[in-house]
Amino acid sequence: MITFYPGPSKVYPQVAQYAQEAVQQGIVSLNHRSRGFMDIVQETLRLLHEKLDIPADYHIAFISSATEGWEIVAQSLTVATSLHPHSGAFGKKWMEYAHRIKPMIEPGLADVLCVVQNETSNGTQVRMETLAEFRHGFTGLIAVDAVSSMGGIRLDWTLADVWIASVQKCLGLPAGLGLLIYSPAALKKAEIISDRQYYNSLLFIHENIGKFQTQYTPNGLGIYLLMRVLQQVPPIEEVDRLIKQRAEDWYTFIASGQAASAEQDLHLLIQNPALRSDTVIAVEGSAERIAAIKAAALAQGITLGNGYGDWKNTTFRIANFPAIDEEEIKTLKDFLLTNGF
Ligand SMILES: *Cc1c(COP(=O)(O)O)cnc(C)c1O
Repeated sequence: MITFYPGPSKVYPQVAQYAQEAVQQGIVSLNHRSRGFMDIVQETLRLLHEKLDIPADYHIAFISSATEGWEIVAQSLTVATSLHPHSGAFGKKWMEYAHRIKPMIEPGLADVLCVVQNETSNGTQVRMETLAEFRHGFTGLIAVDAVSSMGGIRLDWTLADVWIASVQKCLGLPAGLGLLIYSPAALKKAEIISDRQYYNSLLFIHENIGKFQTQYTPNGLGIYLLMRVLQQVPPIEEVDRLIKQRAEDWYTFIASGQAASAEQDLHLLIQNPALRSDTVIAVEGSAERIAAIKAAALAQGITLGNGYGDWKNTTFRIANFPAIDEEEIKTLKDFLLTNGF
């Protein structure tokens, strides 16, 4: 079975061996305040800085999911309210959660701008040039959800103060671990706000990660697997080149199929190339056609990503994540070619 689901997604095959190691070597049973465990945390943070090219003065902490990260931004980093320009289901969901904590008031009073860099629901992305414009035009903190792009493409970390991710997308790992990356300016604001009301208040998180610990028992297996996968993956510049090349190939492939098929019954959901995601490709068609192609793929051992939110029945999605290999991509392209593309 091969999967192109954009999360949870294909895990690196080596994860099976790493998980076995973690059990056999007793890593999963280590106390999370023991030296052995803290060493793993320290090394994982070092590797994140190195492999993803995260600036030395940006802090990294472990959280349980990206959704938790949204809540931390609202609780610990927002004074008045937050702005959420969005184009899809994840951006909308983030806005709804955030505004339950810090309700929308006068937009001019907003002190945090929340942006989903890669909108997994419809395969769009906010490019770094656009983020740079936001950075230039907004004086408050900028928080970015990069859940389905971090580890796949190069991000300009300095363009935001908070970056949120989960490991089950571009990092090729099982779900249940999130990353919160925050700038010195974000930390300074957290200190001014001084939220210490919740178990996951940013200041508690920060105090603990400073000792390579977490305020609750963390997903130790997830952290260990992340460390092992980071040891294995190339630097982000290299991954970025590969993913962008594959994205270009996918878009060309689908666009030429769309031109060739008389009925043009399957086409790219996102018409504007500038908005297209590098890591999630959405293909649109009638509900019948989409259901039929997903079923035919499944019968051949290929899982396509379902549509999401407003596009649930009229699209399928193809993850373009680094753990997916060339052979699998070829299998899917061959399948599509023999199924009316
Ligand atoms: C998957 C996803 C999330 C949710 O991640 P969790 O780990 O389930 O909290 C949030 N935002 C985007 C853009 C996603 O793709």
